[in-house]
Formats: sequence, C-alpha cells, structure tokens
Amino acid sequence: MDIFGKCTGFTAAKEAMDAGLYPYFIPLSGNEGTEAEFQGRRLIMCGSNNYLGLTTHPEVRQAAIDAIEEFGTSCTGSRFLNGTLEMHEQLERALADWVGKESALVFSTGMQVNLGVISAVVCKDDIVILDKDDHASIVDGAFLSRGKIKRFRHNDMEDLERVLSSLPEDKGKLVIVDGLFSMEGDIAPLPELAPICKRYGARLMVDDAHAMGVLGKGRGTAAHFGLTDDVDLIMSTFSKSFASLGGFIAGDEGVIHYIKHHARSLIFSASIPPSNTAAVLAALDVMQSEPERVERLTQIADYMRQKYQNLGFDTGNSETPVIPILIGDDMKTFFTWKMLFDNGVFVNAVISPAVAPGRQLLRTSYMATHTDEQLAQVLETFEKIGKQLQLI
Ligand code: PMP
Repeated sequence: MDIFGKCTGFTAAKEAMDAGLYPYFIPLSGNEGTEAEFQGRRLIMCGSNNYLGLTTHPEVRQAAIDAIEEFGTSCTGSRFLNGTLEMHEQLERALADWVGKESALVFSTGMQVNLGVISAVVCKDDIVILDKDDHASIVDGAFLSRGKIKRFRHNDMEDLERVLSSLPEDKGKLVIVDGLFSMEGDIAPLPELAPICKRYGARLMVDDAHAMGVLGKGRGTAAHFGLTDDVDLIMSTFSKSFASLGGFIAGDEGVIHYIKHHARSLIFSASIPPSNTAAVLAALDVMQSEPERVERLTQIADYMRQKYQNLGFDTGNSETPVIPILIGDDMKTFFTWKMLFDNGVFVNAVISPAVAPGRQLLRTSYMATHTDEQLAQVLETFEKIGKQLQLI
C-alpha cells in the first residue's frame, strides 16, 4: 500500500476550488489593518485577529525596524542555548506584570506554548480535562502529553462537575479552557468554573489568545472577572492583539521554572526573533498609553452584534469582537462567504472540525481601527446578501 494513497484520495478542497468556492489560503497582495487587497480589489477586513489594530501602529512598526537594525533578523537558536536576549527577559517581566502573575515565559508561537506547556505539566498518571470547543493547539498539546484526556460539553459547568467527580482524587488534574472562544466569541464562565476546579483539586489553565487586548481592559479573561489569583496558568499568543508572532505562559515562579526546563517546543525550537519581541514590547506600551483602543473595540463589537441581530442573523452566544454568523451547512457557508468576498468584505468561513458539525459559520471579527463608514458598508453588504440568499 502506498502511504501517499490518501493524498490522491483527498478531493474535498479540489471540488470547492473547481466550484469557485474555496475560501482558504487567499493570497492577498496587501493587508494593512482594516483593508486588504486581492487582485487589485480593496476588501474591508473583517476576518483578522488584529483586534487593537496595532500591526500598523507607527511605534510598533518602528520598534520592529529598530530591533532588526540592532540585532539582525534572527536569534538562530533556542532560548535554552544561544537564543535568549535580554529583550526576551524584559518582555517576560512586562507580561507577568501585565497579567498579574509572578513569572512568564515567551515561546515562538502560541501553538508551541500549548504543545510545550501541556505536555510538560501533564504526565503519565495525570488527567487533562478540556472543553469540547477548546482550540486545536490545546487538544494537540493534550495528545502530546502522556496523560489521560477527558472532555466536557462546551461551557457546561454541570458536565465539568460530572467529569471531575468521576476522577480519582489522588491523580493530578489540569482543566484547560479558552478564555474567549475563538470561533463563536463566547466567554468561559470563570466565576463558576474556578471554584469547581478548586473543589476537585484541579489546576486551571486559561488560553487567552483572543482575550488579551480585548477583555479585562486588555489584561484578559481572569482580569475581566477579577479572578487572576484563581487561574493558575494564563496563556496567550502574540499573533492577535499584540500584532506580532509568538506566545507566552504566565503563572507561579516555580511552575514557570519547571516548564522552562521541560517544554520541548521551547527547548528544541529557535527563539522568537528580535523584531517580533520588540513589536510585542511596543504593543504593550501602546495598550497602556492608549486604553481608548480597548473601549472603542468593545463599542464596535456591541454595535455590530446588535445590528446583525436586528437584521435577523443568528450570532450565537457571542459577547465579544468575535461575532459568528451561524449558517449551519458547508456549501451554504462557502457560497455566502464567496458573495461577501466578491462584494468587498473579507470574513472567514468556518466548518468542522474548527466548529461542531451543524455550527458552520462565518466568523466576523473587528478592530478598534475600523471606521464607522467601513462598518456601515459591511452591514449593508451583509443585509443585501442575507436577503438574496434568504438567510434573513
Ligand atoms: N490558542 C488559540 C485559542 C488560538 O486561536 C490560537 C491561534 N489561532 C492559538 C492558540 C495559537 O496561536 P499562534 O497563532 O500564536 O500559534
């Protein structure tokens, strides 16, 4: 049997391409904040995670340029060996401070944070407990660990309690949730979740990839609920509000020290480049000096959600700048995506396994830098196409 047989048998993407409905790997010739360019056409970008619009902020741009001038383009080695700069440690101190934890550790991507942290902390006799809607990087980190994996229904605290109460008391347990769920824009109910974890002796890790810069005045989900001390590990990425690439984990000093010496995705991979590190430091400065960005983002999100609902779209349980438009069928999702794209609005078409079957959706997301005119145009386009396709 040829191991590549599965490759020739994989036709789903090709079929969507042949139908002119393939919504992935779109090669943009420009992507500057709220506008993107595709084959000479301008599109309003409503599919980005650049929540605070900082990828084009002059101070963030300049910090990245200056870092290249000073340090070159790469550290060409792992943090463990030759790849740690003073700047990395400066960033770690700043991030620990920002989220209110003793210590932080910077990785080269958010995916690597979850792979490295979960596989380091969850060992053979331990149990990792995941929300069914947790991000793929959490699931993969759990698979990479030697521990047992248990799952509970999305944001269902009774189901979490059912799972935890069925587990042996003497086993190490780690519950992991997204703070702000990336596809449907709802928030993990930490005020209920944290006490349940405590009651069953489980530690709690929150993935704040989408919440950092967005919730809790930019400091994330735990800060949003005033529960920083009740969350043991806070993870986030730099590829969203921080306008860069990389990620970090924050927690108690002893735990972070252990992770630093056991996370294989940190030890056996090159460190985050100087330009990306400097961009995050600058983005953190801007978050502190321009808090109105987070406020504007929240206002835009509330406004758009209300408008979509008034038009008759189903926005699920979104409470944040991630606003799904639920469609519920692959082809219909692709077709609606294509109509929006052809009419100048870039959103993301999301199907299983990124969402549960039946929850296919168009993921719209907003930036503090979207103008009122852009938002009005997006709504007008959604209304026109929603009516044409009888979605509303
Ligand atoms: N966690 C969540 C919830 C994410 O959405 C993502 C990225 N989409 C990641 C982790 C991984 O982050 P990165 O892009 O830095 O690898």
